[in-house]
Amino acid sequence: MERIKMNTIVEMDGDEMTRILWKTIKEELLLPFVELNTEYYDLGLPYRDETNDQVSIDAGEAIKKHHVGVKCATITPNAQRVEEYHLKEMWKSPNGTIRAILDGTVFRTPILVSGVKPAVRSWEKPITIARHAYGDVYKATEFRVTKPGKAELLFTAEDGETKRATIYDFECGGVLQGMYNKDSSIESFARSCFNYALDAKEDLWFSTKDTISKQYDQTFKLIFAEIFEKEYKEKFEQAGITYFYTLIDDAVARVIRSKGGYIWACKNYDGDVMSDMVSTAFGSLAMMTSVLVSPDGNFEYEAAHGTVTRHYYRYLEGEQTSTNPIATIFAWSGALRKRGELDGNAPLVDFANKLEKASLAVIESGRMTKDLALMWQGSTPRILNSDDFIKAIRTELESYMN
Ligand code: NAP
Ligand code: MG
Repeated sequence: MERIKMNTIVEMDGDEMTRILWKTIKEELLLPFVELNTEYYDLGLPYRDETNDQVSIDAGEAIKKHHVGVKCATITPNAQRVEEYHLKEMWKSPNGTIRAILDGTVFRTPILVSGVKPAVRSWEKPITIARHAYGDVYKATEFRVTKPGKAELLFTAEDGETKRATIYDFECGGVLQGMYNKDSSIESFARSCFNYALDAKEDLWFSTKDTISKQYDQTFKLIFAEIFEKEYKEKFEQAGITYFYTLIDDAVARVIRSKGGYIWACKNYDGDVMSDMVSTAFGSLAMMTSVLVSPDGNFEYEAAHGTVTRHYYRYLEGEQTSTNPIATIFAWSGALRKRGELDGNAPLVDFANKLEKASLAVIESGRMTKDLALMWQGSTPRILNSDDFIKAIRTELESYMN
């Protein structure tokens, strides 16, 4: 069989159990069918340390050049990892570094299979969470107040003009926090969401707490409304989709009553919390894909889960683990499909679709990894280790490709 040709995508290798799966997925599911054309960056922790993390920056820049990337899960170092890997420094999260370079929004979507029923009975289609991954409480300045005194908010403009407001006259100890966001970041968040909705042909919901936060959250609401009116209203009408703003309390109630099948845009903290709620209610983190979309049209695909450290330690002791490769496979299929769409490469798009179909067909035939078997509601499932599961997908995929 002749292998499918493609233009370059950026490949970012990672750590631990997902690094092992990465290699197997390439060998079994990609290389036999596609002349993989990737620019390879090793974001595994040892090489990040060796290059003083320059490789993470280079990978981010490469995505800007090629517009499509696929990333394996990576370790975000903490004190324990510094010791374990004898690191020169506690390097920053590669995801944070790449996000800062691409200025993107992260979209997370659950992968549904018929034997795993969502905890919320009405959900029939996936709900995608779009999380604004910049600022707010994640970049806040805060401290404890230990005696009575006056807390003020002070802004000094470059031209010397000042603006100040009393936050609170403390009569006792307490806590204080100052946070910010930028119009430019909110604007790119809005554009990323509108573009993604058009791409997916799904309605877009956006929620904040603007009734309480009359300047801060109100700014988000107004920026979204203005950009929608000026740049997207007609395109949405043509695509037959809607944009809809509501209070976060109302959104939560509507989400639980909904059938799914839309994108829910959330501020940074809301998105952090709600994406864990939504993914857990849909099944498992191992079935959650993630894509970083930048407002100027760059895409980085990955699994939402981490490097599955606990499985990796068992693997190192020679155990065959039953780690779920689905989200990592879908990161690859997502990147290949996007490459194909951008280039008008129909065989590549077709391959990406078949790879996903084959993966789900194996699960729906009752063969799956342990995490899924625990949630399975059909006839007794057969638990496979990762290698056998990937081989089963390979066999299924071969039957579609011939
Ligand atoms: P994790 O790797 O997502 O794993 C947490 C637990 O979830 C696992 O122990 C496993 O549970 C289950 N799980 C997750 N993915 C699975 C899969 N594909 N198949 C089967 N089970 C799966 O999170 P973590 O242990 O908190 O983090 C490990 C490392 O990943 C950390 O160094 C962290 O920095 C990094 N991380 C990276 C990313 C990223 O690159 N995007 C994201 C998150 C975390 P059981 O052990 O019960 O089977
Ligand atoms: Mg979280």
